[in-house]
Amino acid sequence: MTREQGTVIAAHGRHYLVQAGEHKVQCVTRGKKSDVATGDIVHWKRTSPDQGVIESIAERKTLLYRSDQYKSKLLAANVTQLFIVVATQPGFSDDLVSRALVAAEAGGIAAHIILNKVDIEELLAPTRQRLAMYANLGYPVHELSAKSMPEQAKELLQPLMQGQSSILIGQSGMGKSSLINLLVPDAELATREISAALNSGKHTTTFTRLFMTGNDTAIIDSPGFQEFGLYHLSEGMLERAFREFGPHLGHCKFYNCHHLTEPGCAVLGAVEAGEIAPLRHALYQQLVHESSQKLY
Ligand code: GDP
Ligand code: ZN
Repeated sequence: MTREQGTVIAAHGRHYLVQAGEHKVQCVTRGKKSDVATGDIVHWKRTSPDQGVIESIAERKTLLYRSDQYKSKLLAANVTQLFIVVATQPGFSDDLVSRALVAAEAGGIAAHIILNKVDIEELLAPTRQRLAMYANLGYPVHELSAKSMPEQAKELLQPLMQGQSSILIGQSGMGKSSLINLLVPDAELATREISAALNSGKHTTTFTRLFMTGNDTAIIDSPGFQEFGLYHLSEGMLERAFREFGPHLGHCKFYNCHHLTEPGCAVLGAVEAGEIAPLRHALYQQLVHESSQKLY
């Protein structure tokens, strides 16, 4: 039997769907291992016409985690950019946006924000104002309307996603499905195919799916916005994941400062001086606390 290469397009327990050229192959891992993620490039061996066994995983460029009962579990591999979808309405959570930005920074992944539903004009100015905090940190904010200006939305996003592996995340109601359907014309059919192959029945939208939209372009739809796994991040990784802390690191009175309550902390000083948003520092504190609660 020859070894073949493919891309994992969905994972469900120990069952994986692997896209190998034009074909989709149902694969399992050997033994009890389930350390394969959507987006992984794998080598697999055929065991029947449409089934196989995953033999090895190619070295990952990046890895994102989801949260599962105080543990970080694999979410997606080889993602190069993360798009956070928010909207003028319903309201979005700053906590969730910043958690996604932390996940991206820690994973070495570029982060973008998409502001959808700009057609709801009366809410545009206040929403822009809320997003200014992220724009000021250097995260691009792309404004569009998936519903009232779908062509413009496509023209804006397609060049950004060309040649990349992009994951889209968003709280429910923001318009993520509308955007996926714009960018992936056969998304619904593909999703039904994936669900049938993985035998997941009613759990159709509860797992992460990868759609190939070109030879080297992948779009990943992930339902797990609230659930980024950040428990595996050390304090050092956390402080570096807040890009605005950067200029202040190394300037604290104590070399091993945790930037929580220490006197002479340069990060806390910057919060007081209005250079760091209190909301962002509060999340940093919360994440340090959460990572101390992690379970192994
Ligand atoms: P998801 O839950 O994030 O996947 O969001 P959906 O794509 O299902 O969209 C949620 C609701 O917002 C639906 O009723 C859509 O029709 C609506 N919607 C999506 N995009 C837009 C938009 O650009 N403008 C407006 N006004 N409504 C939109
Ligand atoms: Zn400090």
